[in-house]
Amino acid sequence: MPEIYVAGTPVAGSPVAGTPVGAQTIAAQPGSNLLDVLLEHGHKVPWSCRSGQCQSCLVQARPDEVPSAAQAQLNAEQQSKGWLLACQCQLQQDMHISLHNPATDDLPARISDMRYLADDILLLRVTPERPLRFRAGQHMVLWLDATLARPYSIASLPGEGDLEFHLRLHPHGAFSNAIRERKTGDTLYMGAAAGHFHYDPGWQETPLLLLGSGTGLAPLQAIARDALQAGHEAPITLWHWSRSQAQCYLADALSELADQHSQLSLHLRTHAELASDLTQLRLASRKTLALLCGQPAFVEQLRKPLFMAGLPGRQILDEAFISRP
Ligand SMILES: Cc1cc2nc3c(=O)[nH]c(=O)nc-3n(C[C@H](O)[C@H](O)[C@H](O)COP(=O)(O)OP(=O)(O)OC[C@H]3O[C@@H](n4cnc5c(N)ncnc54)[C@H](O)[C@@H]3O)c2cc1C
Repeated sequence: MPEIYVAGTPVAGSPVAGTPVGAQTIAAQPGSNLLDVLLEHGHKVPWSCRSGQCQSCLVQARPDEVPSAAQAQLNAEQQSKGWLLACQCQLQQDMHISLHNPATDDLPARISDMRYLADDILLLRVTPERPLRFRAGQHMVLWLDATLARPYSIASLPGEGDLEFHLRLHPHGAFSNAIRERKTGDTLYMGAAAGHFHYDPGWQETPLLLLGSGTGLAPLQAIARDALQAGHEAPITLWHWSRSQAQCYLADALSELADQHSQLSLHLRTHAELASDLTQLRLASRKTLALLCGQPAFVEQLRKPLFMAGLPGRQILDEAFISRP
Protein backbone atom coordinates (compact mmCIF):
# COMPACT_ATOMS: atom_id res chain seq x y z
CA MET A 1 0.00 0.00 0.00
CA PRO A 2 1.63 3.34 -1.03
CA GLU A 3 2.40 5.81 1.75
CA ILE A 4 2.18 9.56 1.24
CA TYR A 5 4.38 11.79 3.40
CA VAL A 6 2.95 15.30 3.36
CA ALA A 7 5.27 18.08 4.49
CA GLY A 8 3.95 20.33 7.23
CA THR A 9 5.57 23.37 5.64
CA PRO A 10 5.70 23.64 1.86
CA VAL A 11 9.21 23.46 0.42
CA ALA A 12 9.91 26.20 -2.10
CA GLY A 13 11.82 26.12 -5.33
CA SER A 14 13.71 22.84 -5.12
CA PRO A 15 12.85 19.17 -4.97
CA VAL A 16 11.94 17.91 -1.52
CA ALA A 17 14.94 16.57 0.39
CA GLY A 18 14.19 14.01 3.08
CA THR A 19 11.00 13.67 5.08
CA PRO A 20 10.20 17.17 6.35
CA VAL A 21 9.60 17.86 10.02
CA GLY A 22 5.94 17.62 10.93
CA ALA A 23 5.05 15.50 7.91
CA GLN A 24 1.77 13.64 7.94
CA THR A 25 1.87 10.04 6.77
CA ILE A 26 -1.13 8.72 4.87
CA ALA A 27 -1.61 5.10 3.79
CA ALA A 28 -3.42 5.11 0.45
CA GLN A 29 -4.98 2.41 -1.71
CA PRO A 30 -2.87 1.57 -4.78
CA GLY A 31 -4.28 3.35 -7.83
CA SER A 32 -6.12 5.96 -5.75
CA ASN A 33 -6.06 9.55 -6.92
CA LEU A 34 -3.57 11.81 -5.12
CA LEU A 35 -5.89 14.84 -5.13
CA ASP A 36 -8.73 12.80 -3.58
CA VAL A 37 -6.39 11.39 -0.93
CA LEU A 38 -5.04 14.83 0.02
CA LEU A 39 -8.54 16.36 0.19
CA GLU A 40 -9.90 13.43 2.23
CA HIS A 41 -7.11 14.01 4.77
CA GLY A 42 -7.87 17.70 5.22
CA HIS A 43 -5.29 19.28 2.88
CA LYS A 44 -6.95 22.23 1.16
CA VAL A 45 -5.39 21.74 -2.25
CA PRO A 46 -7.18 24.06 -4.70
CA TRP A 47 -8.73 22.36 -7.71
CA SER A 48 -11.08 23.30 -10.49
CA CYS A 49 -11.24 21.20 -13.69
CA ARG A 50 -9.82 17.81 -12.58
CA SER A 51 -8.67 17.21 -16.14
CA GLY A 52 -5.14 18.59 -15.89
CA GLN A 53 -5.99 21.72 -17.82
CA CYS A 54 -6.42 24.32 -15.07
CA GLN A 55 -3.21 23.43 -13.18
CA SER A 56 -4.51 24.67 -9.82
CA CYS A 57 -3.81 21.36 -7.97
CA LEU A 58 -0.01 21.63 -8.31
CA VAL A 59 2.01 19.82 -5.63
CA GLN A 60 5.69 18.93 -5.47
CA ALA A 61 7.38 15.56 -4.92
CA ARG A 62 10.80 13.98 -5.31
CA PRO A 63 11.29 13.95 -9.10
CA ASP A 64 11.97 10.18 -9.19
CA GLU A 65 8.65 9.45 -7.48
CA VAL A 66 6.44 11.25 -9.97
CA PRO A 67 4.46 9.25 -12.58
CA SER A 68 5.04 10.87 -15.99
CA ALA A 69 1.29 11.18 -16.68
CA ALA A 70 1.00 13.58 -13.74
CA GLN A 71 3.52 15.95 -15.37
CA ALA A 72 2.48 15.70 -19.02
CA GLN A 73 0.86 19.17 -19.06
CA LEU A 74 3.70 20.96 -17.21
CA ASN A 75 6.76 22.68 -18.64
CA ALA A 76 10.29 21.24 -18.50
CA GLU A 77 11.36 23.39 -15.55
CA GLN A 78 8.34 22.38 -13.47
CA GLN A 79 8.93 18.73 -14.35
CA SER A 80 12.60 18.83 -13.33
CA LYS A 81 11.65 20.33 -9.95
CA GLY A 82 9.17 17.54 -9.24
CA TRP A 83 5.96 19.54 -9.69
CA LEU A 84 2.95 17.47 -10.64
CA LEU A 85 -0.80 17.80 -10.99
CA ALA A 86 -2.42 15.92 -8.11
CA CYS A 87 -5.61 15.29 -10.11
CA GLN A 88 -3.60 13.39 -12.74
CA CYS A 89 -1.61 11.25 -10.27
CA GLN A 90 -2.68 7.64 -9.60
CA LEU A 91 -0.74 6.39 -6.59
CA GLN A 92 1.49 3.38 -7.20
CA GLN A 93 4.43 4.04 -4.85
CA ASP A 94 5.42 6.05 -1.79
CA MET A 95 5.63 9.81 -2.37
CA HIS A 96 7.04 12.77 -0.43
CA ILE A 97 4.65 15.62 -1.09
CA SER A 98 5.00 19.34 -0.42
CA LEU A 99 1.92 21.46 -0.92
CA HIS A 100 2.19 24.45 -3.21
CA ASN A 101 2.72 27.75 -1.44
CA PRO A 102 2.06 30.68 -3.81
CA ALA A 103 3.86 33.15 -1.53
CA THR A 104 7.16 31.32 -2.07
CA ASP A 105 6.62 29.28 -5.24
CA ASP A 106 4.94 31.84 -7.51
CA LEU A 107 5.42 35.35 -8.81
CA PRO A 108 3.81 38.09 -6.68
CA ALA A 109 1.88 40.74 -8.59
CA ARG A 110 0.10 43.91 -7.47
CA ILE A 111 -3.40 44.72 -8.66
CA SER A 112 -3.08 47.93 -10.68
CA ASP A 113 -6.63 48.24 -12.03
CA MET A 114 -10.03 46.66 -11.44
CA ARG A 115 -13.17 47.80 -13.21
CA TYR A 116 -16.30 46.36 -14.73
CA LEU A 117 -16.47 45.93 -18.50
CA ALA A 118 -20.06 44.66 -18.13
CA ASP A 119 -22.37 43.82 -15.18
CA ASP A 120 -20.56 40.58 -14.44
CA ILE A 121 -17.24 40.96 -16.29
CA LEU A 122 -14.33 42.34 -14.33
CA LEU A 123 -11.20 43.71 -15.96
CA LEU A 124 -8.23 42.89 -13.75
CA ARG A 125 -4.78 44.36 -14.40
CA VAL A 126 -1.75 43.31 -12.43
CA THR A 127 1.89 44.38 -12.28
CA PRO A 128 4.15 41.37 -11.77
CA GLU A 129 7.17 41.80 -9.47
CA ARG A 130 9.42 40.69 -12.37
CA PRO A 131 8.78 40.34 -16.09
CA LEU A 132 7.50 36.92 -17.08
CA ARG A 133 7.40 35.00 -20.34
CA PHE A 134 4.11 34.23 -22.02
CA ARG A 135 2.42 34.13 -25.42
CA ALA A 136 -0.73 36.16 -26.03
CA GLY A 137 -3.74 33.87 -25.47
CA GLN A 138 -2.09 31.49 -22.99
CA HIS A 139 -3.55 31.06 -19.51
CA MET A 140 -2.09 31.04 -16.01
CA VAL A 141 -3.27 30.21 -12.52
CA LEU A 142 -4.03 33.22 -10.32
CA TRP A 143 -3.69 32.48 -6.61
CA LEU A 144 -5.42 34.66 -4.01
CA ASP A 145 -4.00 32.50 -1.20
CA ALA A 146 -2.70 28.94 -0.73
CA THR A 147 -6.20 27.45 -1.01
CA LEU A 148 -7.92 29.57 -3.67
CA ALA A 149 -6.67 29.51 -7.24
CA ARG A 150 -8.28 29.50 -10.70
CA PRO A 151 -6.90 29.64 -14.25
CA TYR A 152 -7.54 32.73 -16.40
CA SER A 153 -6.52 33.56 -19.95
CA ILE A 154 -4.12 36.43 -20.49
CA ALA A 155 -5.89 39.19 -22.43
CA SER A 156 -2.82 41.39 -22.95
CA LEU A 157 0.24 41.02 -25.17
CA PRO A 158 3.86 40.64 -24.09
CA GLY A 159 5.36 44.12 -24.12
CA GLU A 160 2.14 45.85 -23.02
CA GLY A 161 3.35 46.23 -19.41
CA ASP A 162 0.70 45.11 -16.94
CA LEU A 163 -1.03 41.79 -17.52
CA GLU A 164 -4.76 41.96 -18.17
CA PHE A 165 -7.49 39.40 -17.48
CA HIS A 166 -11.25 39.40 -18.12
CA LEU A 167 -13.08 37.58 -15.34
CA ARG A 168 -16.71 36.56 -15.55
CA LEU A 169 -17.90 36.74 -11.95
CA HIS A 170 -20.30 33.96 -10.95
CA PRO A 171 -22.82 34.63 -8.16
CA HIS A 172 -21.70 31.61 -6.11
CA GLY A 173 -18.12 31.36 -7.33
CA ALA A 174 -15.40 31.16 -4.69
CA PHE A 175 -12.82 33.09 -6.71
CA SER A 176 -15.48 35.45 -8.09
CA ASN A 177 -16.61 36.45 -4.61
CA ALA A 178 -13.08 36.73 -3.19
CA ILE A 179 -11.76 38.93 -6.02
CA ARG A 180 -14.71 41.32 -5.62
CA GLU A 181 -13.31 42.14 -2.16
CA ARG A 182 -9.80 42.92 -3.42
CA LYS A 183 -8.66 46.41 -4.31
CA THR A 184 -5.92 48.20 -6.20
CA GLY A 185 -2.54 47.67 -4.52
CA ASP A 186 -3.41 44.20 -3.16
CA THR A 187 -1.11 41.28 -3.94
CA LEU A 188 -1.95 38.06 -5.71
CA TYR A 189 0.32 35.36 -7.12
CA MET A 190 0.79 34.16 -10.68
CA GLY A 191 1.71 30.65 -11.84
CA ALA A 192 3.59 29.91 -15.06
CA ALA A 193 1.90 30.76 -18.37
CA ALA A 194 0.72 27.57 -20.05
CA GLY A 195 -1.23 26.16 -22.95
CA HIS A 196 -1.19 25.77 -26.72
CA PHE A 197 -3.75 28.52 -27.37
CA HIS A 198 -1.62 31.27 -28.92
CA TYR A 199 -0.63 32.70 -32.30
CA ASP A 200 2.05 30.93 -34.30
CA PRO A 201 4.22 33.15 -36.59
CA GLY A 202 4.04 30.34 -39.17
CA TRP A 203 0.33 31.15 -39.70
CA GLN A 204 0.93 34.46 -41.54
CA GLU A 205 -0.81 33.30 -44.71
CA THR A 206 -3.44 31.13 -43.01
CA PRO A 207 -6.98 32.54 -42.72
CA LEU A 208 -8.01 32.57 -39.06
CA LEU A 209 -11.55 32.04 -37.85
CA LEU A 210 -11.80 33.09 -34.18
CA LEU A 211 -15.00 32.00 -32.42
CA GLY A 212 -15.75 32.84 -28.80
CA SER A 213 -18.50 33.40 -26.29
CA GLY A 214 -18.45 35.51 -23.12
CA THR A 215 -14.95 35.98 -21.67
CA GLY A 216 -13.70 33.47 -24.25
CA LEU A 217 -13.06 36.73 -26.10
CA ALA A 218 -10.12 37.48 -23.76
CA PRO A 219 -7.58 35.16 -25.43
CA LEU A 220 -9.13 35.48 -28.89
CA GLN A 221 -8.78 39.26 -29.10
CA ALA A 222 -5.22 38.92 -27.76
CA ILE A 223 -4.43 36.40 -30.49
CA ALA A 224 -5.99 38.67 -33.14
CA ARG A 225 -3.96 41.66 -31.92
CA ASP A 226 -0.79 39.55 -31.74
CA ALA A 227 -1.37 38.30 -35.30
CA LEU A 228 -1.90 41.85 -36.61
CA GLN A 229 1.20 43.07 -34.78
CA ALA A 230 3.17 40.21 -36.37
CA GLY A 231 2.04 41.34 -39.85
CA HIS A 232 -0.53 38.58 -40.43
CA GLU A 233 -1.60 38.81 -44.07
CA ALA A 234 -4.57 36.45 -44.49
CA PRO A 235 -8.13 37.35 -43.35
CA ILE A 236 -8.97 37.17 -39.64
CA THR A 237 -12.66 36.71 -38.93
CA LEU A 238 -13.74 37.14 -35.32
CA TRP A 239 -17.16 35.96 -34.16
CA HIS A 240 -18.23 36.71 -30.60
CA TRP A 241 -21.52 35.81 -28.97
CA SER A 242 -22.62 37.77 -25.90
CA ARG A 243 -25.48 36.99 -23.59
CA SER A 244 -28.80 37.75 -25.21
CA GLN A 245 -29.63 41.49 -25.08
CA ALA A 246 -26.04 42.34 -24.08
CA GLN A 247 -23.53 44.17 -26.25
CA CYS A 248 -20.07 42.66 -26.75
CA TYR A 249 -18.04 43.96 -23.81
CA LEU A 250 -15.16 44.98 -26.11
CA ALA A 251 -17.27 46.25 -29.02
CA ASP A 252 -15.68 49.71 -29.20
CA ALA A 253 -12.06 48.56 -28.96
CA LEU A 254 -12.63 45.81 -31.53
CA SER A 255 -14.37 48.15 -33.96
CA GLU A 256 -11.44 50.56 -33.70
CA LEU A 257 -9.03 47.70 -34.41
CA ALA A 258 -11.07 46.56 -37.42
CA ASP A 259 -11.05 50.14 -38.76
CA GLN A 260 -7.25 50.10 -38.66
CA HIS A 261 -6.80 46.64 -40.19
CA SER A 262 -8.76 45.75 -43.31
CA GLN A 263 -7.99 42.01 -42.96
CA LEU A 264 -9.94 41.87 -39.66
CA SER A 265 -13.70 41.42 -39.88
CA LEU A 266 -16.06 41.29 -36.89
CA HIS A 267 -19.36 39.59 -36.17
CA LEU A 268 -20.53 40.69 -32.72
CA ARG A 269 -23.66 38.68 -31.98
CA THR A 270 -25.79 37.40 -29.12
CA HIS A 271 -26.44 33.85 -27.98
CA ALA A 272 -29.98 34.08 -29.35
CA GLU A 273 -28.40 34.28 -32.81
CA LEU A 274 -25.84 31.50 -32.32
CA ALA A 275 -27.80 28.57 -33.77
CA SER A 276 -28.69 30.39 -37.00
CA ASP A 277 -25.18 31.89 -37.27
CA LEU A 278 -23.68 28.41 -37.15
CA THR A 279 -25.73 27.26 -40.13
CA GLN A 280 -24.22 30.11 -42.14
CA LEU A 281 -20.55 29.60 -41.25
CA ARG A 282 -18.41 29.76 -44.40
CA LEU A 283 -14.68 29.16 -44.65
CA ALA A 284 -12.45 31.68 -46.45
CA SER A 285 -10.30 28.77 -47.67
CA ARG A 286 -9.73 25.06 -47.02
CA LYS A 287 -6.57 26.09 -45.15
CA THR A 288 -8.58 28.06 -42.55
CA LEU A 289 -7.62 27.50 -38.93
CA ALA A 290 -10.41 27.84 -36.37
CA LEU A 291 -9.73 28.82 -32.76
CA LEU A 292 -12.63 28.32 -30.33
CA CYS A 293 -12.89 29.57 -26.77
CA GLY A 294 -15.58 29.69 -24.10
CA GLN A 295 -17.57 27.34 -21.90
CA PRO A 296 -17.13 23.62 -22.68
CA ALA A 297 -20.71 23.31 -24.01
CA PHE A 298 -20.11 26.21 -26.43
CA VAL A 299 -16.86 24.69 -27.70
CA GLU A 300 -18.59 21.33 -28.25
CA GLN A 301 -21.54 22.99 -29.99
CA LEU A 302 -19.20 24.51 -32.60
CA ARG A 303 -17.27 21.40 -33.55
CA LYS A 304 -19.95 19.78 -35.70
CA PRO A 305 -20.87 22.90 -37.77
CA LEU A 306 -17.17 23.51 -38.42
CA PHE A 307 -16.72 19.93 -39.55
CA MET A 308 -19.82 20.22 -41.76
CA ALA A 309 -18.36 23.43 -43.23
CA GLY A 310 -15.34 21.35 -44.32
CA LEU A 311 -12.82 21.90 -41.52
CA PRO A 312 -10.88 18.79 -40.40
CA GLY A 313 -10.31 18.33 -36.64
CA ARG A 314 -6.59 19.11 -36.94
CA GLN A 315 -7.48 22.65 -38.09
CA ILE A 316 -9.49 23.36 -34.94
CA LEU A 317 -7.75 24.57 -31.77
CA ASP A 318 -9.83 25.05 -28.68
CA GLU A 319 -9.63 26.34 -25.13
CA ALA A 320 -12.59 25.28 -22.96
CA PHE A 321 -13.14 27.18 -19.71
CA ILE A 322 -13.77 24.04 -17.67
CA SER A 323 -14.99 24.97 -14.19
CA ARG A 324 -15.76 23.10 -11.00
CA PRO A 325 -18.69 20.71 -11.38
C1 LIG B 1 -7.70 27.14 -19.20
C2 LIG B 1 -8.81 27.99 -18.57
C3 LIG B 1 -8.84 29.35 -18.82
C4 LIG B 1 -9.87 30.12 -18.26
N1 LIG B 1 -9.90 31.46 -18.55
C5 LIG B 1 -10.93 32.21 -18.08
C6 LIG B 1 -11.03 33.61 -18.43
O1 LIG B 1 -10.16 34.19 -19.11
N2 LIG B 1 -12.08 34.31 -17.94
C7 LIG B 1 -13.06 33.71 -17.17
O2 LIG B 1 -14.03 34.40 -16.79
N3 LIG B 1 -12.98 32.40 -16.82
C8 LIG B 1 -11.94 31.64 -17.24
N4 LIG B 1 -11.85 30.32 -16.88
C9 LIG B 1 -12.81 29.80 -15.86
C10 LIG B 1 -12.28 30.15 -14.45
O3 LIG B 1 -11.07 29.45 -14.22
C11 LIG B 1 -13.24 29.74 -13.30
O4 LIG B 1 -13.66 28.43 -13.48
C12 LIG B 1 -14.45 30.61 -13.20
O5 LIG B 1 -14.06 31.96 -13.08
C13 LIG B 1 -15.30 30.25 -11.98
O6 LIG B 1 -14.50 30.35 -10.82
P1 LIG B 1 -15.20 30.64 -9.41
O7 LIG B 1 -14.19 30.29 -8.34
O8 LIG B 1 -15.77 31.99 -9.37
O9 LIG B 1 -16.39 29.57 -9.33
P2 LIG B 1 -16.31 28.14 -8.60
O10 LIG B 1 -16.22 28.31 -7.13
O11 LIG B 1 -15.20 27.36 -9.26
O12 LIG B 1 -17.69 27.54 -8.97
C14 LIG B 1 -18.81 27.85 -8.14
C15 LIG B 1 -20.08 27.46 -8.79
O13 LIG B 1 -20.26 28.26 -9.95
C16 LIG B 1 -20.51 27.42 -11.07
N5 LIG B 1 -19.84 27.94 -12.22
C17 LIG B 1 -18.52 28.17 -12.35
N6 LIG B 1 -18.24 28.60 -13.59
C18 LIG B 1 -19.43 28.63 -14.23
C19 LIG B 1 -19.82 29.00 -15.53
N7 LIG B 1 -18.94 29.41 -16.42
N8 LIG B 1 -21.13 28.95 -15.86
C20 LIG B 1 -22.03 28.53 -14.97
N9 LIG B 1 -21.73 28.17 -13.72
C21 LIG B 1 -20.45 28.22 -13.36
C22 LIG B 1 -19.90 26.09 -10.71
O14 LIG B 1 -20.59 25.04 -11.35
C23 LIG B 1 -20.06 25.99 -9.22
O15 LIG B 1 -21.28 25.41 -8.91
C24 LIG B 1 -10.85 29.53 -17.42
C25 LIG B 1 -10.79 28.15 -17.18
C26 LIG B 1 -9.79 27.38 -17.76
C27 LIG B 1 -9.76 25.89 -17.49
